[in-house]
Amino acid sequence: MLVIHTIAELRAHLDEHRQNRRKIGLVPTMGFLHQGHMALAQKAREESDVVVLSIFVNPIQFGVNEDLDVYPRDLPHDIALCKENGVDILFAPSVAEIYPEPIMTSVEVQSLSNILIGCHRPNHFRGVTTIVAKLLNIVEPDKIIFGEKDYQQLIIVRRMIRDLSYKAEVIGVPIVREEDGLACSSRNARLTKEDRAAAVILSQSLKKAQKRILEGEKDVSTIRQLIEDNIKSEARAKIQSIDICHATKLDTLDRIDNQPIVILLAVAFGDVVLIDQQLVTPKEKAL
Ligand code: AMP
Repeated sequence: MLVIHTIAELRAHLDEHRQNRRKIGLVPTMGFLHQGHMALAQKAREESDVVVLSIFVNPIQFGVNEDLDVYPRDLPHDIALCKENGVDILFAPSVAEIYPEPIMTSVEVQSLSNILIGCHRPNHFRGVTTIVAKLLNIVEPDKIIFGEKDYQQLIIVRRMIRDLSYKAEVIGVPIVREEDGLACSSRNARLTKEDRAAAVILSQSLKKAQKRILEGEKDVSTIRQLIEDNIKSEARAKIQSIDICHATKLDTLDRIDNQPIVILLAVAFGDVVLIDQQLVTPKEKAL
């Protein structure tokens, strides 16, 4: 496996692969890798000939009071994990390599970026789409792989790629969870032992809500209340948002009919905000 830090060196290697007609798969990450990221790398392995995994903690997607400075990092560990999981090129550029001067240009998917998580994190998704656009221009991948864990991000990137006619196909990978159900996340490492144990309430609440919907509950406020009561039973959890939306348009819903929906949670434990989601396809009523 190659570890590359500069755009020029990466482009030179990828040009060679392209000349040999090899398909390139890109997995963008912020590092401190875990099994969730590795599921993306494995998907890229299945879908392409050359797997590029990028590690870049992108400053422009963090707000002023967010966790940029304390975001966990461990490049030697990440290199070892990538080697074990069939990554061909680990691209780990510095901030100066990506942003040699303050960036004046940005890419923003309007509307979708200012709802849901975008209400709590203004400019976050603009930062995400701008770095993804840059990575698409640097790597020119045939496939780009994202996790369904960051569900709104996945929908926004899909839209950007359609709107701007990038050639890359977007592939979504289902959430990978720890044994007790907590979604794998780099931020889990920042939880205290007590908060780590308490955080299981997110996936438990989602499962309960999913069960009620599959049993036929159609009223969104009832489902929302069920989730809220459940999470509030855990005193350490501070709810930031609970949203029940159309699974592709992300409109918030009043009633669940037969459309696929997604439940999106953002819940803080101390100063760590965790997100989780559950897709649900309600069963049609038998006639
Ligand atoms: P991050 O390093 O947190 O920016 O995540 C990089 C990519 O990995 C994103 O596409 C995430 O959605 C994906 N990802 C992170 N955690 C998980 C997980 N538990 N399961 C599946 N994908 C994940």
